[in-house]
Formats: sequence, structure tokens, C-alpha cells
Amino acid sequence: MSEKSKYFYEPSSAFATTDSQACGEESQADCDKKFMLMAINEAHRALKLQEVPIGAVVVCAGKIIGRGHNLVETLCDATAHAEMQSITAAATTLGGKYLKGCTLYVTVEPCVMCAGALAWSQIDRVVYGAADPKRGYSRLQGQIFHPKTEVVGGVLAEECEQLMKDFFSKLR
Ligand SMILES: [Zn+2]
Repeated sequence: MSEKSKYFYEPSSAFATTDSQACGEESQADCDKKFMLMAINEAHRALKLQEVPIGAVVVCAGKIIGRGHNLVETLCDATAHAEMQSITAAATTLGGKYLKGCTLYVTVEPCVMCAGALAWSQIDRVVYGAADPKRGYSRLQGQIFHPKTEVVGGVLAEECEQLMKDFFSKLR
């Protein structure tokens, strides 16, 4: 199976599935933790590349349709944040620019750029782990996300934050 087909989104089944069914029998909280662990896996991939360990996945109808991790150093691109990588991957999988019915899981609170990109994507939900008081979008006043986008913070926050702390303590 190719890398792409492994995550390929099947429109026939997925479009018939509403968001509440996406987690099956699991509660929303359990489902959020499960996918946050996948985002943490992505953060570990960034760490292996000596990148700031932030990872993200985009989920639609209970399936991961895009994943990404921070690649700022690798790509020498200040915009190569985990969210940007996974938004692009998810749109490629879907074959459309909008991520309606999707949830993005990211290990750290999105920055203003990524929150703006997520707003453009019209994504339904954003779930993040650790808060980022210095660079997170929520330090700004006003609405960045689409008013209908549900935002949940603090999912597996300790694990997500520990990755960042370990990384930055090694740099010092
Ligand atoms: Zn960002």
C-alpha cells in the first residue's frame, strides 16, 4: 500500500458519517486523547529531526486524513508548522480545500498564522494539548477562528508540554 492510499479517505462511507459517530462507541474525550496521541507521535518525528517537537493530525469520520510535524529547520521555511503541513496533507487527501467535518489535533496551541490558516480551511474543530502563552493565538484579542469552529485545549497537555520542555532544556 502506498503512503497516500494508507490514509486515503473513502468518500462513500465518510460523507455518510456525522461528526458524533466519528468516535464510534468512545466518548468524545477518549476519542480526543486517542488522536492527540497520534499528534504526539508526529511530534516525536519532529524531535528526531531536531525540530521543535510539535505534531498534528487531521481527522475526518474517525480516520486520519492528514498528518504533519514541525519542519521549519528541515525545509528552511518559517511557515512550515505542523498545522500547515497537516492542513495541506488533509486537503490533498480530500481533493478539496475545505476541511468541513474535520478535527485538527495539535500538541501545542496554534500560533496566529496557523489559527488563520485553520479559519481559511473552515475546519469544524481544533483540539490542542499544551497552551502557548507566548506565541499562541489566544494571547490576541478578537476572533481568529471561524465563530462556528469548536476549540478544545488541554488534551494530554502535560505530555505535550513535557516534550517541549525537554527539547528546550537540552538547547540551553
Ligand atoms: Zn503555527
